[in-house]
Amino acid sequence: MTDTPLISSPEHSVEGFVREFLRELNFTQGTVLERASTNDTYLALARTVRHYLMARWMETTTAHYRRQPKAVAYLSAEFLLGRQLDNALLAADLEEIAAEALASLGLDLDVLRQAEVEPGLGNGGLGRLAACFIDSLATMSVPAIGYGIRYEYGIFRQTFVDGRQFEEPDHWLDNGSPWEFAHPEHEVTVSFGGHTEKYTEGEGEDAVERSRWVPGWQVLGVPYNYMVPGYRNGRVNTLRLWSARATHAFDLKIFNYGDYAEAVRAQTFAENITKVLYPEDSTPQGKELRLQQQYFFVACSLRDFIDQLLPEGFDLHRLHERICFQLNDTHPVIAVPELMRILVDDHGFAWDEAWEVTRRCFAYTCHTLLPEALEVWPVELLGRLLPRHLEIIYRINDEFLDEVRETFGDDELLVRRMSIIAEHPFRAVRMAHLATVAATKVNGVAELHSQLLRDKVLADFANLWPDKFTNVTNGVTPRRFVRLANPGLSALVTEAIGDGWVTDLDRLRELEPFADDPEFRRRFREVKSANKQRLVELLERRDGITVPTDTMLDVMVKRLHEYKRQTLKILHVISLYDRIVSGELDVDQVVPRTIVFGAKAAPGYVMAKEIIALINHVGTVVNAHPVASRVLHVAFPANYDVTVAETLVPAADLSEQISLAGKEASGTGNMKFALNGALTIGTDDGANVEIRQLVGDDHFFLFGLTEPEAAAIAETGYRPSAYYEENPTLRRALDLVAKGEFSGGDRSVFEPVVSNLLGEDRFMVLADFQSYLDAQDRVEAYYRDPEAWSRSAVLNVARSGFFSSDRSMRDYLDRIWHAEPLGD
Ligand SMILES: *Cc1c(COP(=O)(O)O)cnc(C)c1O
Repeated sequence: MTDTPLISSPEHSVEGFVREFLRELNFTQGTVLERASTNDTYLALARTVRHYLMARWMETTTAHYRRQPKAVAYLSAEFLLGRQLDNALLAADLEEIAAEALASLGLDLDVLRQAEVEPGLGNGGLGRLAACFIDSLATMSVPAIGYGIRYEYGIFRQTFVDGRQFEEPDHWLDNGSPWEFAHPEHEVTVSFGGHTEKYTEGEGEDAVERSRWVPGWQVLGVPYNYMVPGYRNGRVNTLRLWSARATHAFDLKIFNYGDYAEAVRAQTFAENITKVLYPEDSTPQGKELRLQQQYFFVACSLRDFIDQLLPEGFDLHRLHERICFQLNDTHPVIAVPELMRILVDDHGFAWDEAWEVTRRCFAYTCHTLLPEALEVWPVELLGRLLPRHLEIIYRINDEFLDEVRETFGDDELLVRRMSIIAEHPFRAVRMAHLATVAATKVNGVAELHSQLLRDKVLADFANLWPDKFTNVTNGVTPRRFVRLANPGLSALVTEAIGDGWVTDLDRLRELEPFADDPEFRRRFREVKSANKQRLVELLERRDGITVPTDTMLDVMVKRLHEYKRQTLKILHVISLYDRIVSGELDVDQVVPRTIVFGAKAAPGYVMAKEIIALINHVGTVVNAHPVASRVLHVAFPANYDVTVAETLVPAADLSEQISLAGKEASGTGNMKFALNGALTIGTDDGANVEIRQLVGDDHFFLFGLTEPEAAAIAETGYRPSAYYEENPTLRRALDLVAKGEFSGGDRSVFEPVVSNLLGEDRFMVLADFQSYLDAQDRVEAYYRDPEAWSRSAVLNVARSGFFSSDRSMRDYLDRIWHAEPLGD
């Protein structure tokens, strides 16, 4: 490749910015300032900012191609990016210039920011993690590419009607998408269906049996590139998301037969593949379309990497020297048989050679501990959609099970447990087993989670290959979740210790002495208070919700799932309400709190939706009660997303991380809150364990069963009703719900929630209730002492640098990828 001269970046000045912005508004948007809508000006602004990053992007891409360093491909069905404008302004060091330039034209940057619709291409934690990781890789100058799906509709928009969740489509592309670059000229053909044929290659001694896939139908994948700008380091990596189109041959053929309707139907069929994000979170749905999505995006991505990013004639025997494909959960695992197919069928590799390469190219991150969340695909479906891949999976399994028998002898029970193919309740491919067999490394996402993977979920595999298993504790990007989300705290920290922390978050340690400085604490409280004010304004503007300012802000935001135990939180609220209303608690002695919930439920998850309704109904009653509302306020803004998180997290005093121990793999919400100076009330679960170890027991409110305790209770038979019978406070709270206090006297409305808690209570809400209430009493007592509380809050910030996703990336690089940042 020769050096083509790059167009130079626009001038890095207010004047340069104004010129570029007006040019965009006039030439691209086709309008003049006086008549431009907010969306016009937003689009022109986005493109202007983009231009400042363009040269760095082309340079980074060229350097990767020319130097061919070992790279990382992060394969993820979800990237929950959040808004792009602010992050791009920050990366390009344009925040002040843009604000001034716009002001000189009579425009307000803050208003334009709000015109951006966030790309919600993920459900929650898993997709947000992927977004944090690619941000860190770019900031650390690591050659990396993200591969995923460009859903036309991202995660549904949540609304409440009479307190119940309704889902509306997320039209995120409707107003234009200035951050993406379509490249239809790099389209990739993806095949599905059909059958396989055996044939013999060569003759006599050299004859080999081979298999060939004769597909039934094909679709095209069109790549859309997104910039992933590093923080002021001159690097811009790429996120490549795939969109499905009908093949040209397909519609041509049908047009020739004159069947227009059929041609359109075929096109719709193809384009359905990337139409919508599945709104399930931590439970797989056995949907054919979902398997199509998974294969579609990994087939596109592997082809793209091999054909576009490697030099021509590259020897694929050395593929592992150039790439590690990181599998973000099991959604991309079909990439394993796909690479085998490419090497064996397309490139003529012998099976063993191909396997040797394949098993060095993949690493697998497991994200769950819930057995029902481990993805399986019915053999019938997989064989129909991907017949050649099923053959390959069977052969991988045969050879793997031979290895198991060689190592452990003929223990058929063990063989059945470990097999990639499950026989019951129907014959199915266990994607986690396939991933574990193929991967060089398998990692959990927090110390406790990785331990439980080794000891329980994948224990047989850990016995066979102890060295394969490792841990990388999750992290979050300090650029988005501190520097951008919390400008007040960022300025305060930078004034105290300089701005090196933005890319070296361990430096927050240098704040520790400031925790003992009363003036610093006062200013910290001022920042917190200003952040609460911002939140109050957002809730008013966005949701028409009025909440008091300057109360303790107690926040539980995350997907609605029974294991996360939003019910435990709402039982605490109900109990406070009950004790205030009954006079047991003197209202003048209660610390005023605002409790904020944010949570979407999967549309088919009935119990989760009931819990949402319960929270909303309790909120209505509490907020309307003349006495209780003096100290308690419940707010549940609809449609919790990254944008809301960015205002909510910096305002929080108390972070609710209350899952049953042993159920939350890591959590990343917990890290965002600690880094923004909220104290955590939490169980010994996921990364809470590490947060508590780092910030110290005195600055964390621990409660509840430990994982071994919960496991022991489950073993001997858990009886939730015993807790109900023995604990009058709990009984009164549950009875209030049962007798219809929050449903206008109708006892039937929340009966399913109550009887579930009294009957099964799979996540032991009742067992942890009293311990939780006691911890909340400690919270309340501590909060009365603002000096002690803010000292602990500052220490939470100072000691949470470990939870930067930059550190996670360093751990992946050292333990799994063995790749390095690319020097200049
Ligand atoms: C961080 C984040 C999550 C993950 O929250 P957890 O508490 O770890 O489950 C989910 N959704 C959004 C929008 C987030 O920003």
